[in-house]
Amino acid sequence: MLSNIQINENRLWDSLNEMALIGATKKGGVNRQTLTDLDKESRDLFVKWCKEESLFVTVDQIGNIFARREGKNNNLPPIMSGSHLDTQPTGGRYDGALGVLSALEVIRTLNENNYLTEAPIEIAMWTNEEGCRFPPSMTGSAVFSGQYNLNDALSIQDPNGLELGNELKRIQYNGSTPCAPRSIGAFIETHIEQGPILEIEDKNIGIVTGAQAQKWYEINILGMEAHAGPTPMSNRKDALVAASEIVLLVNSIGNDFQPGGCATCGVLEIGSPSRNVIPGKCFLTIDFRHPENKILNEMDKKLRNTIKLIEKNNKVEIKIKQILELKSNVFNKSIKNIIQDVTKKLNYSSKEIVSGAGHDAVNINAIAPTAMIFIPCIDGISHNEVENVYKEDVTKGAQVLLHSMIELADNSSIIIDN
Ligand SMILES: [Zn+2]
Repeated sequence: MLSNIQINENRLWDSLNEMALIGATKKGGVNRQTLTDLDKESRDLFVKWCKEESLFVTVDQIGNIFARREGKNNNLPPIMSGSHLDTQPTGGRYDGALGVLSALEVIRTLNENNYLTEAPIEIAMWTNEEGCRFPPSMTGSAVFSGQYNLNDALSIQDPNGLELGNELKRIQYNGSTPCAPRSIGAFIETHIEQGPILEIEDKNIGIVTGAQAQKWYEINILGMEAHAGPTPMSNRKDALVAASEIVLLVNSIGNDFQPGGCATCGVLEIGSPSRNVIPGKCFLTIDFRHPENKILNEMDKKLRNTIKLIEKNNKVEIKIKQILELKSNVFNKSIKNIIQDVTKKLNYSSKEIVSGAGHDAVNINAIAPTAMIFIPCIDGISHNEVENVYKEDVTKGAQVLLHSMIELADNSSIIIDN
Protein backbone atom coordinates (compact mmCIF):
# COMPACT_ATOMS: atom_id res chain seq x y z
CA MET A 1 0.00 0.00 0.00
CA LEU A 2 1.22 3.47 -0.85
CA SER A 3 0.59 6.32 1.55
CA ASN A 4 -2.17 8.54 0.15
CA ILE A 5 -0.22 11.78 0.08
CA GLN A 6 -0.18 13.56 -3.26
CA ILE A 7 1.90 16.16 -4.94
CA ASN A 8 0.29 19.55 -5.68
CA GLU A 9 0.01 19.65 -9.47
CA ASN A 10 -0.67 23.40 -9.72
CA ARG A 11 2.25 24.28 -7.47
CA LEU A 12 4.63 22.20 -9.58
CA TRP A 13 3.22 23.55 -12.84
CA ASP A 14 3.44 27.16 -11.59
CA SER A 15 7.07 26.66 -10.49
CA LEU A 16 7.97 25.23 -13.91
CA ASN A 17 6.33 28.24 -15.57
CA GLU A 18 8.09 30.68 -13.26
CA MET A 19 11.47 29.06 -13.89
CA ALA A 20 10.81 29.14 -17.66
CA LEU A 21 10.54 32.95 -17.54
CA ILE A 22 14.29 33.11 -16.83
CA GLY A 23 15.82 33.19 -20.30
CA ALA A 24 12.42 32.94 -22.02
CA THR A 25 12.61 33.29 -25.81
CA LYS A 26 10.02 34.83 -28.13
CA LYS A 27 9.14 31.44 -29.58
CA GLY A 28 8.21 30.05 -26.16
CA GLY A 29 11.48 28.31 -25.39
CA VAL A 30 14.35 29.07 -23.03
CA ASN A 31 17.95 30.20 -23.63
CA ARG A 32 19.62 29.77 -20.24
CA GLN A 33 23.11 28.56 -20.97
CA THR A 34 25.31 27.40 -18.16
CA LEU A 35 27.11 29.95 -15.91
CA THR A 36 25.54 32.97 -17.60
CA ASP A 37 23.72 35.69 -15.64
CA LEU A 38 20.48 33.90 -16.46
CA ASP A 39 21.84 30.61 -15.09
CA LYS A 40 22.72 32.48 -11.90
CA GLU A 41 19.19 33.86 -11.73
CA SER A 42 17.69 30.37 -12.06
CA ARG A 43 20.07 28.99 -9.40
CA ASP A 44 19.18 31.86 -7.04
CA LEU A 45 15.46 31.16 -7.48
CA PHE A 46 15.97 27.43 -6.89
CA VAL A 47 18.05 28.09 -3.74
CA LYS A 48 15.42 30.55 -2.47
CA TRP A 49 12.70 27.89 -2.92
CA CYS A 50 14.87 25.31 -1.12
CA LYS A 51 15.47 27.66 1.80
CA GLU A 52 11.74 28.33 2.06
CA GLU A 53 11.41 24.57 2.66
CA SER A 54 14.10 24.78 5.40
CA LEU A 55 16.52 22.63 3.38
CA PHE A 56 20.23 22.69 4.08
CA VAL A 57 21.85 23.99 0.87
CA THR A 58 25.47 23.35 -0.12
CA VAL A 59 27.41 24.20 -3.28
CA ASP A 60 30.41 22.14 -4.33
CA GLN A 61 33.62 23.09 -6.15
CA ILE A 62 32.08 22.67 -9.63
CA GLY A 63 28.90 24.55 -8.65
CA ASN A 64 26.62 21.53 -8.16
CA ILE A 65 23.89 22.49 -5.67
CA PHE A 66 22.59 20.04 -3.06
CA ALA A 67 19.54 20.70 -0.87
CA ARG A 68 19.04 18.28 2.01
CA ARG A 69 16.02 17.36 4.13
CA GLU A 70 16.97 15.36 7.20
CA GLY A 71 15.28 12.03 7.92
CA LYS A 72 14.74 10.02 11.12
CA ASN A 73 18.09 8.31 10.72
CA ASN A 74 20.65 10.69 9.29
CA ASN A 75 23.43 8.12 9.29
CA LEU A 76 21.70 6.51 6.33
CA PRO A 77 22.94 7.67 2.92
CA PRO A 78 20.50 10.14 1.31
CA ILE A 79 17.91 9.25 -1.31
CA MET A 80 18.63 11.81 -4.01
CA SER A 81 16.78 13.20 -7.01
CA GLY A 82 17.53 16.02 -9.43
CA SER A 83 18.67 17.13 -12.85
CA HIS A 84 19.89 20.44 -14.35
CA LEU A 85 18.69 24.02 -14.87
CA ASP A 86 20.91 25.00 -17.82
CA THR A 87 19.50 24.81 -21.36
CA GLN A 88 20.57 24.76 -24.98
CA PRO A 89 20.63 28.15 -26.81
CA THR A 90 17.30 27.21 -28.41
CA GLY A 91 16.20 25.02 -25.51
CA GLY A 92 12.82 24.15 -24.11
CA ARG A 93 11.06 24.79 -20.82
CA TYR A 94 11.21 21.27 -19.35
CA ASP A 95 14.52 19.61 -20.27
CA GLY A 96 16.30 19.59 -16.90
CA ALA A 97 13.99 21.94 -14.99
CA LEU A 98 11.37 19.18 -14.79
CA GLY A 99 13.73 16.89 -12.86
CA VAL A 100 14.92 19.58 -10.43
CA LEU A 101 11.46 20.99 -9.73
CA SER A 102 9.77 17.57 -9.47
CA ALA A 103 12.30 16.73 -6.74
CA LEU A 104 11.50 20.06 -5.06
CA GLU A 105 7.79 19.22 -5.29
CA VAL A 106 8.48 15.92 -3.51
CA ILE A 107 10.05 17.86 -0.61
CA ARG A 108 7.27 20.46 -0.54
CA THR A 109 4.73 17.61 -0.37
CA LEU A 110 6.59 15.82 2.43
CA ASN A 111 6.87 19.08 4.37
CA GLU A 112 3.21 20.03 4.12
CA ASN A 113 2.21 16.51 5.17
CA ASN A 114 4.78 16.45 8.00
CA TYR A 115 6.03 13.18 6.58
CA LEU A 116 9.44 12.31 7.98
CA THR A 117 11.26 9.65 5.96
CA GLU A 118 13.78 7.23 7.51
CA ALA A 119 16.68 8.23 5.29
CA PRO A 120 17.42 11.88 4.47
CA ILE A 121 16.37 13.20 1.06
CA GLU A 122 18.46 15.46 -1.18
CA ILE A 123 17.84 17.42 -4.33
CA ALA A 124 20.79 17.73 -6.73
CA MET A 125 21.20 20.44 -9.38
CA TRP A 126 24.12 19.48 -11.63
CA THR A 127 26.32 22.09 -13.37
CA ASN A 128 26.69 22.26 -17.17
CA GLU A 129 24.58 19.30 -18.24
CA GLU A 130 24.07 20.61 -21.76
CA GLY A 131 27.72 21.21 -22.69
CA CYS A 132 26.78 23.65 -25.46
CA ARG A 133 28.80 26.52 -23.96
CA PHE A 134 31.51 24.41 -22.26
CA PRO A 135 31.85 21.03 -24.04
CA PRO A 136 31.65 18.19 -23.21
CA SER A 137 28.28 17.84 -21.52
CA MET A 138 27.36 16.62 -18.00
CA THR A 139 30.46 18.16 -16.40
CA GLY A 140 29.11 18.61 -12.85
CA SER A 141 27.97 15.01 -12.44
CA ALA A 142 31.10 13.71 -14.19
CA VAL A 143 33.41 15.45 -11.70
CA PHE A 144 31.17 14.48 -8.76
CA SER A 145 31.32 10.82 -9.80
CA GLY A 146 35.10 10.91 -10.21
CA GLN A 147 35.04 10.45 -13.98
CA TYR A 148 36.40 13.89 -14.90
CA ASN A 149 39.22 15.77 -13.25
CA LEU A 150 38.09 18.90 -11.35
CA ASN A 151 40.92 21.14 -12.56
CA ASP A 152 40.45 20.01 -16.16
CA ALA A 153 36.76 20.84 -15.86
CA LEU A 154 37.45 24.27 -14.33
CA SER A 155 39.73 25.16 -17.24
CA ILE A 156 37.29 24.28 -20.06
CA GLN A 157 36.87 27.36 -22.27
CA ASP A 158 33.75 28.70 -23.98
CA PRO A 159 33.90 29.97 -27.60
CA ASN A 160 34.98 33.42 -26.29
CA GLY A 161 37.89 31.98 -24.32
CA LEU A 162 36.21 32.39 -20.91
CA GLU A 163 37.05 29.63 -18.46
CA LEU A 164 34.41 27.58 -16.68
CA GLY A 165 36.07 28.10 -13.29
CA ASN A 166 36.18 31.89 -13.71
CA GLU A 167 32.57 32.02 -14.82
CA LEU A 168 31.62 29.94 -11.79
CA LYS A 169 33.35 32.53 -9.57
CA ARG A 170 31.75 35.42 -11.43
CA ILE A 171 28.23 34.11 -10.73
CA GLN A 172 29.30 33.20 -7.15
CA TYR A 173 28.61 29.48 -7.37
CA ASN A 174 32.20 28.32 -6.82
CA GLY A 175 31.33 26.47 -3.63
CA SER A 176 33.70 25.05 -1.05
CA THR A 177 32.18 21.58 -0.57
CA PRO A 178 34.60 19.03 -2.09
CA CYS A 179 33.30 17.71 -5.40
CA ALA A 180 33.96 13.99 -5.01
CA PRO A 181 32.00 10.74 -4.76
CA ARG A 182 30.16 10.20 -1.47
CA SER A 183 27.67 7.64 -0.27
CA ILE A 184 24.23 7.98 -1.88
CA GLY A 185 21.44 5.49 -1.14
CA ALA A 186 19.74 5.93 -4.49
CA PHE A 187 19.51 8.53 -7.27
CA ILE A 188 16.44 9.05 -9.47
CA GLU A 189 16.28 11.59 -12.29
CA THR A 190 12.91 12.56 -13.74
CA HIS A 191 13.16 13.80 -17.34
CA ILE A 192 11.14 14.34 -20.48
CA GLU A 193 11.66 11.47 -22.91
CA GLN A 194 13.07 13.71 -25.70
CA GLY A 195 11.79 11.14 -28.16
CA PRO A 196 8.35 10.09 -29.47
CA ILE A 197 7.94 6.53 -28.15
CA LEU A 198 5.79 7.11 -25.02
CA GLU A 199 3.47 9.43 -26.90
CA ILE A 200 3.09 7.08 -29.88
CA GLU A 201 2.37 4.13 -27.58
CA ASP A 202 0.14 6.23 -25.31
CA LYS A 203 2.06 5.44 -22.10
CA ASN A 204 2.19 7.73 -19.04
CA ILE A 205 5.58 6.75 -17.64
CA GLY A 206 8.84 5.55 -19.17
CA ILE A 207 10.81 3.27 -16.88
CA VAL A 208 14.34 3.76 -18.10
CA THR A 209 16.45 0.62 -18.16
CA GLY A 210 19.68 2.33 -19.22
CA ALA A 211 21.29 4.72 -21.66
CA GLN A 212 23.05 4.44 -24.99
CA ALA A 213 26.80 4.41 -25.47
CA GLN A 214 28.17 7.62 -27.01
CA LYS A 215 31.30 8.86 -28.74
CA TRP A 216 31.81 12.52 -29.64
CA TYR A 217 34.51 13.73 -32.04
CA GLU A 218 36.02 16.96 -33.28
CA ILE A 219 37.36 16.93 -36.83
CA ASN A 220 39.85 19.46 -38.19
CA ILE A 221 40.45 19.48 -41.94
CA LEU A 222 43.43 21.28 -43.42
CA GLY A 223 43.42 21.87 -47.19
CA MET A 224 44.73 24.93 -49.01
CA GLU A 225 43.08 28.26 -49.70
CA ALA A 226 43.32 29.22 -53.36
CA HIS A 227 41.61 31.49 -55.89
CA ALA A 228 38.29 30.10 -57.11
CA GLY A 229 39.00 31.22 -60.70
CA PRO A 230 42.55 30.33 -61.74
CA THR A 231 42.87 27.09 -59.72
CA PRO A 232 41.94 24.06 -61.87
CA MET A 233 39.69 21.44 -60.28
CA SER A 234 42.48 18.85 -60.35
CA ASN A 235 44.82 21.07 -58.30
CA ARG A 236 42.52 21.80 -55.40
CA LYS A 237 42.80 20.87 -51.74
CA ASP A 238 39.24 21.79 -50.82
CA ALA A 239 38.60 21.33 -47.10
CA LEU A 240 34.84 21.91 -47.47
CA VAL A 241 34.48 19.16 -50.07
CA ALA A 242 36.20 16.76 -47.66
CA ALA A 243 33.97 18.03 -44.83
CA SER A 244 30.88 17.48 -46.97
CA GLU A 245 31.93 13.91 -47.69
CA ILE A 246 32.35 13.37 -43.94
CA VAL A 247 28.85 14.74 -43.26
CA LEU A 248 27.39 12.26 -45.77
CA LEU A 249 29.59 9.46 -44.43
CA VAL A 250 28.38 10.08 -40.87
CA ASN A 251 24.76 10.00 -42.01
CA SER A 252 25.30 6.76 -43.93
CA ILE A 253 26.99 5.13 -40.91
CA GLY A 254 23.90 6.01 -38.86
CA ASN A 255 21.69 4.36 -41.46
CA ASP A 256 23.96 1.32 -41.81
CA PHE A 257 23.82 0.50 -38.10
CA GLN A 258 20.09 0.05 -37.63
CA PRO A 259 18.35 -0.63 -35.39
CA GLY A 260 19.78 1.64 -32.74
CA GLY A 261 22.50 3.68 -34.45
CA CYS A 262 22.39 7.49 -34.37
CA ALA A 263 25.02 9.62 -36.13
CA THR A 264 25.03 13.42 -36.37
CA CYS A 265 27.27 16.28 -37.50
CA GLY A 266 25.98 19.21 -35.45
CA VAL A 267 28.64 21.85 -36.18
CA LEU A 268 30.38 22.66 -39.46
CA GLU A 269 32.59 25.75 -39.73
CA ILE A 270 34.63 27.07 -42.62
CA GLY A 271 37.79 28.93 -41.55
CA SER A 272 37.73 32.51 -43.03
CA PRO A 273 34.96 31.83 -45.56
CA SER A 274 34.95 33.88 -48.76
CA ARG A 275 32.87 33.31 -51.88
CA ASN A 276 35.76 33.30 -54.32
CA VAL A 277 38.24 31.34 -52.21
CA ILE A 278 38.51 27.55 -52.10
CA PRO A 279 38.02 26.69 -48.40
CA GLY A 280 41.34 25.75 -46.80
CA LYS A 281 40.15 24.90 -43.29
CA CYS A 282 37.07 23.24 -41.85
CA PHE A 283 35.97 22.16 -38.41
CA LEU A 284 33.12 19.79 -37.71
CA THR A 285 31.71 17.74 -34.86
CA ILE A 286 30.37 14.20 -34.83
CA ASP A 287 28.03 12.58 -32.30
CA PHE A 288 27.71 8.76 -32.47
CA ARG A 289 25.31 6.72 -30.30
CA HIS A 290 24.24 3.10 -30.04
CA PRO A 291 22.73 1.01 -27.20
CA GLU A 292 25.61 -1.48 -27.49
CA ASN A 293 29.27 -0.63 -26.86
CA LYS A 294 30.46 -3.24 -29.33
CA ILE A 295 28.45 -1.89 -32.24
CA LEU A 296 29.46 1.69 -31.40
CA ASN A 297 33.08 0.54 -31.77
CA GLU A 298 32.25 -0.81 -35.23
CA MET A 299 30.77 2.57 -36.17
CA ASP A 300 34.00 4.19 -34.91
CA LYS A 301 36.11 1.86 -37.03
CA LYS A 302 34.10 2.55 -40.18
CA LEU A 303 34.38 6.30 -39.57
CA ARG A 304 38.16 6.24 -39.13
CA ASN A 305 38.81 3.94 -42.11
CA THR A 306 36.65 5.90 -44.52
CA ILE A 307 38.05 9.25 -43.35
CA LYS A 308 41.50 7.97 -44.37
CA LEU A 309 40.17 7.52 -47.93
CA ILE A 310 38.49 10.94 -47.92
CA GLU A 311 41.81 12.44 -46.78
CA LYS A 312 43.69 10.79 -49.62
CA ASN A 313 41.13 11.51 -52.36
CA ASN A 314 40.89 15.18 -51.47
CA LYS A 315 44.62 15.71 -50.80
CA VAL A 316 43.85 17.26 -47.39
CA GLU A 317 44.97 16.55 -43.84
CA ILE A 318 42.26 15.37 -41.43
CA LYS A 319 42.72 15.23 -37.65
CA ILE A 320 40.17 13.24 -35.62
CA LYS A 321 39.94 13.97 -31.90
CA GLN A 322 37.56 11.93 -29.77
CA ILE A 323 36.41 14.24 -26.95
CA LEU A 324 33.83 12.07 -25.17
CA GLU A 325 33.25 8.40 -24.52
CA LEU A 326 30.27 7.08 -22.59
CA LYS A 327 29.80 3.36 -22.24
CA SER A 328 26.26 2.03 -22.44
CA ASN A 329 24.60 2.04 -19.06
CA VAL A 330 22.30 -0.34 -17.24
CA PHE A 331 20.38 1.23 -14.37
CA ASN A 332 19.75 -0.37 -10.97
CA LYS A 333 17.17 -3.16 -11.17
CA SER A 334 15.77 -2.85 -7.65
CA ILE A 335 15.06 0.88 -8.05
CA LYS A 336 13.59 0.22 -11.48
CA ASN A 337 11.30 -2.41 -9.91
CA ILE A 338 10.18 0.03 -7.22
CA ILE A 339 9.32 2.65 -9.85
CA GLN A 340 7.44 -0.02 -11.81
CA ASP A 341 5.55 -1.14 -8.72
CA VAL A 342 4.62 2.43 -7.72
CA THR A 343 3.46 3.16 -11.27
CA LYS A 344 1.20 0.11 -11.20
CA LYS A 345 -0.26 0.99 -7.79
CA LEU A 346 -1.04 4.49 -9.06
CA ASN A 347 -2.82 2.92 -12.08
CA TYR A 348 -0.59 4.62 -14.64
CA SER A 349 0.48 2.91 -17.85
CA SER A 350 4.21 2.43 -18.39
CA LYS A 351 6.86 1.11 -20.74
CA GLU A 352 10.48 0.13 -20.30
CA ILE A 353 12.68 2.33 -22.47
CA VAL A 354 16.38 2.96 -23.27
CA SER A 355 17.44 6.60 -23.03
CA GLY A 356 18.67 7.96 -26.35
CA ALA A 357 20.22 10.99 -24.68
CA GLY A 358 22.94 11.25 -22.07
CA HIS A 359 21.84 12.37 -18.61
CA ASP A 360 23.51 13.18 -15.30
CA ALA A 361 21.94 9.96 -14.02
CA VAL A 362 24.27 8.04 -16.34
CA ASN A 363 27.29 9.51 -14.53
CA ILE A 364 25.81 8.99 -11.06
CA ASN A 365 25.08 5.36 -12.00
CA ALA A 366 28.83 4.75 -11.77
CA ILE A 367 28.87 5.49 -8.01
CA ALA A 368 25.32 4.90 -6.71
CA PRO A 369 22.21 2.81 -7.41
CA THR A 370 20.46 4.90 -10.07
CA ALA A 371 17.33 4.95 -12.23
CA MET A 372 15.27 7.37 -14.30
CA ILE A 373 11.61 8.23 -14.83
CA PHE A 374 10.57 9.56 -18.26
CA ILE A 375 7.38 11.41 -19.09
CA PRO A 376 6.15 11.91 -22.68
CA CYS A 377 6.92 15.15 -24.53
CA ILE A 378 4.69 16.38 -27.32
CA ASP A 379 5.77 15.07 -30.76
CA GLY A 380 8.97 13.82 -29.11
CA ILE A 381 10.56 17.24 -29.67
CA SER A 382 13.32 18.56 -27.39
CA HIS A 383 16.42 20.79 -27.61
CA ASN A 384 13.98 23.06 -29.40
CA GLU A 385 11.97 26.10 -28.36
CA VAL A 386 8.68 24.33 -29.18
CA GLU A 387 9.46 21.53 -26.69
CA ASN A 388 6.26 20.98 -24.71
CA VAL A 389 4.53 18.60 -22.29
CA TYR A 390 1.04 17.99 -20.92
CA LYS A 391 0.43 19.09 -17.35
CA GLU A 392 -1.16 15.74 -16.46
CA ASP A 393 2.02 13.92 -17.52
CA VAL A 394 4.13 16.24 -15.33
CA THR A 395 1.79 15.47 -12.42
CA LYS A 396 2.01 11.71 -12.96
CA GLY A 397 5.81 11.78 -13.24
CA ALA A 398 6.14 13.70 -9.96
CA GLN A 399 3.61 11.44 -8.25
CA VAL A 400 5.66 8.37 -9.25
CA LEU A 401 8.83 10.12 -8.06
CA LEU A 402 7.24 11.03 -4.69
CA HIS A 403 6.15 7.50 -3.86
CA SER A 404 9.30 5.88 -5.23
CA MET A 405 11.41 8.17 -3.03
CA ILE A 406 9.27 7.46 0.04
CA GLU A 407 9.60 3.70 -0.58
CA LEU A 408 13.37 4.01 -0.99
CA ALA A 409 13.89 6.36 1.96
CA ASP A 410 11.78 4.25 4.30
CA ASN A 411 13.22 0.87 3.23
CA SER A 412 16.78 1.51 2.04
CA SER A 413 17.61 -2.15 2.61
CA ILE A 414 15.52 -3.08 -0.48
CA ILE A 415 18.09 -1.46 -2.73
CA ILE A 416 20.39 -4.16 -4.06
CA ASP A 417 23.38 -3.42 -6.24
CA ASN A 418 23.10 -4.80 -9.77
ZN1 LIG B 1 18.33 17.27 -19.85
